[in-house]
Amino acid sequence: MRDPIPTVTLPSGVTVPALGQGTWNMGDNAAQARDEIASLKIGLDLGMTLIDTAEMYADGGSEEIVGKAIEGRRDEVFLVSKIYPANASLRGAVEACERSLKRLKTDRIDLYLLHWRGNHPLAETVEAFEHLKAVGKIEAWGVSNFDVADMDELLGVPNGGNVAANQVLYNLARRGIEYDLLPWCQERSIPIMAYSPIEQGRLTHHPDLIRIAKTYQATPAQITLAFLLDRDGVIAIPKSSNPQRIEENRGSVDLDITDEDWAVLDAAFPPPSRKKSLEML
Ligand code: NAP
Repeated sequence: MRDPIPTVTLPSGVTVPALGQGTWNMGDNAAQARDEIASLKIGLDLGMTLIDTAEMYADGGSEEIVGKAIEGRRDEVFLVSKIYPANASLRGAVEACERSLKRLKTDRIDLYLLHWRGNHPLAETVEAFEHLKAVGKIEAWGVSNFDVADMDELLGVPNGGNVAANQVLYNLARRGIEYDLLPWCQERSIPIMAYSPIEQGRLTHHPDLIRIAKTYQATPAQITLAFLLDRDGVIAIPKSSNPQRIEENRGSVDLDITDEDWAVLDAAFPPPSRKKSLEML
């Protein structure tokens, strides 16, 4: 029997799986669409029911792939999409959200994120998100690529405290947020969504990870995901269009890493000892 996927509770009280699915690069190539849709469906079958997409990915093509993958099973899915900062004005957000909903073939997005900070005032973007919430087009909103200073500023605008998540780059090789942003969010029960959790596949070649993975009859990707699953309030969203890898990523939940091996991982990928600006990919 597989272990169940741990869950993370959003400020609204809704729980989501701590292991979801990313979709960057999906929808780029029509020849791969079938495999991409099939992989997302396999992930859903395995309980990875949080799907992350964005209007930016493949110019909306990724949202279309997601729309096809969730057809007929919308209620199983926790759907996350992101708005371009340039669209995040009062009027622009409503239009962008409607375009996303059309591509996703649904009437609501569960969590709508500002992809990164842009030129529209945060207060205006929050007002737009609150309006989208009030009319039922989104259930909750959040941000992405926000460092501590950005989060502080956000909490200072009207309704800014309704932020439901912050999606940032976080993996074994990018532990900067452990110095300040991660504890800041944990103290306020704001989940962190860890993007590029396998460092876009690059961590699978790391010799220390290969060695430790072997001792667990696991793979380096599974260790990188287990590292994130071990942290409170963190949701990992690996992307794969390969059914075997989806299965493999799901298997990370079953790993029980010893304290000794956590220490070995800390030595190989040291946690930060000082403030580092938030990195972005
Ligand atoms: P990632 O999930 O760390 O890595 C994805 C890459 O790793 C793909 O090339 C995938 O190839 C490969 N892969 C997946 N599982 C594997 C495994 N078990 N073994 C070996 N290779 C594996 O990187 P990401 O796509 O950049 O990040 C995940 C998601 O986060 C994105 O898809 C997107 O939804 C989100 N994201 C958000 C932001 C933001 O600014 N908010 C930025 C970047 C990403 P295959 O598909 O061939 O398996």
